[in-house]
Amino acid sequence: MTTHREPLSSVLETIGRTPLVRVHDSSASVPVYAKLESFNPGASIKDRIGKYMLERMLEQGDLAPGGTVIEPTAGNTGIGIAVAAGQLDLQAVFVVPERFSIEKQQLMRALGADVINTPTEDGMGYAIERAHELAAELDNAAVPQQFSNPLNAEAHYETTAPEVDEALDGEVGAVVAGCGTAGTLMGMARYFRERDPDTHVVAVEPEGSAYREFLGEDVEHASYKTEGIGTHDIQTNELFDPDLVDDVFAIADRDVHEEMARLAAEEGQLVASSAAANSLAAKRVAEAVASGEIDAPHDAVVTVFADSSERYLSKGVYRSFEEWTG
Ligand code: PMP
Repeated sequence: MTTHREPLSSVLETIGRTPLVRVHDSSASVPVYAKLESFNPGASIKDRIGKYMLERMLEQGDLAPGGTVIEPTAGNTGIGIAVAAGQLDLQAVFVVPERFSIEKQQLMRALGADVINTPTEDGMGYAIERAHELAAELDNAAVPQQFSNPLNAEAHYETTAPEVDEALDGEVGAVVAGCGTAGTLMGMARYFRERDPDTHVVAVEPEGSAYREFLGEDVEHASYKTEGIGTHDIQTNELFDPDLVDDVFAIADRDVHEEMARLAAEEGQLVASSAAANSLAAKRVAEAVASGEIDAPHDAVVTVFADSSERYLSKGVYRSFEEWTG
């Protein structure tokens, strides 16, 4: 893994092949492994889909060089698309609800993209609408739309999952991942369920998010601080396929906050809130596999650490819980 010893011709070639690292108790009978996605050039898992979606859209003729990509995005996807767009002769425009981290918006602009903010209270649904309106006004423009584009999940089916599979010699028994668009989880779930239909698949969301409604549960919607995962309106999450998911774990912000601090202090992992939520959920799954409560075909439990805490320092991720959530 991470074998880029040969000289590379473009930053796009540094995307993927991230390290897979064991986390939690190294003597536990069921190991947990996390894919460290901040090793990508735009420092998140979303570089994978930025590159994959734009390359496929150019190949399929949805866009031609010199064109414009317009994406409603919380930030990391914007950075991933901006990195790829800059190298593929495309202009990038992002529609971003205000509540998302200012660092991400600065990085998108630094990469040459335009950023349009929409009011937080209008939600992601409105940002999506605005992106389509803007695209309709331009020639040679397209909206990748990560929330409904199968290329999003396909990027993980084609890259993230096979990398993990190879690193663990086919020993993956369970896949655990937070769902924003659900592209990561769906791509990995599809890949590993094809390898073994009994692979256990767990989605992760913050408490207050509505993904559990897909499994028929009643959910009391509430706001949450964990960034990058969760939904308030499952209608906008078109990629999520409940048939590929055994369970959805909701993780409370308070536990996420504590786990971010623990991962840094004990494991040297400067990872953000969605990674901390995944870490806790993956540990629960590993314990359930160890006790026999979950029947998984192999022992290893795999998750992703989508990005780094450095991107959220201004939000007080390492200050007190009250300061982070206040
Ligand atoms: N973590 C972070 C920090 C993210 O930005 C995202 C994407 N919104 C995710 C997790 C979830 O990934 P996906 O969209 O593939 O479900």
